[in-house]
Amino acid sequence: MRLILLGAPGAGKGTQAKKLSEKYGIPRISTGDILREAMQKGTALGLKAKSYMDSGQLVPDDVVIGIVEEKLKDKECIKGWILDGFPRTLQQAQALDRILTGIRTSIGHVLNFEVNEEKIIKRISGRRSCESCQSAYHIYFNRPQKDGVCDSCGGRLIQRNDDKEETVRERLKVYQEKTQPLVSYYSERSLLKKIEADDDIENVFTRICSFVL
Ligand code: AMP
Repeated sequence: MRLILLGAPGAGKGTQAKKLSEKYGIPRISTGDILREAMQKGTALGLKAKSYMDSGQLVPDDVVIGIVEEKLKDKECIKGWILDGFPRTLQQAQALDRILTGIRTSIGHVLNFEVNEEKIIKRISGRRSCESCQSAYHIYFNRPQKDGVCDSCGGRLIQRNDDKEETVRERLKVYQEKTQPLVSYYSERSLLKKIEADDDIENVFTRICSFVL
């Protein structure tokens, strides 16, 4: 299984990537999670990424391409991989093609998560994540058992800086400008599958599982 999850921020890519990774035992490469972890640890990568992420802008291509290249070349990825949040620009997509050719593999499917923008804003601004283990929750759609507390590790649930409404609108604008062109990039190569993602988490998951293998 070699999948790219494409779609606007808040379309549910992260949630579905985690479920797919658990069900099929395939590693998930989430550039957003990797960058957030680096930020939390205060590494050089994290410091570089912080101002871009907090303002809803994309981190420079060379930074994220380097991260993904290293992960894809790891032996953990021999069985397959799920790319969540990468590529996000044409340059990243072209770099990915070069990396995959270099390691003699290719993309299986690109799943394009389709959702309505106003619903995205509601969805993202209700998101909370655990500051310790990064598990994801939602104040309407995926509530923790106890408000503000992570079910998995008991950590505190927080709202990401870039999940505030104003930043979400900026992220959607960046998505339209920089990432949306990838839809035609992949559909021209017959790799794209549309996912109706304005639905319950389990329904979307069932839909994806019915054709990814
Ligand atoms: P995400 O969790 O995937 O929505 O990513 C959160 C933020 O991380 C984005 O708004 C960007 O600032 C940064 N980021 C994640 N993936 C990428 C990428 N492929 N290219 C550039 N920036 C990224």
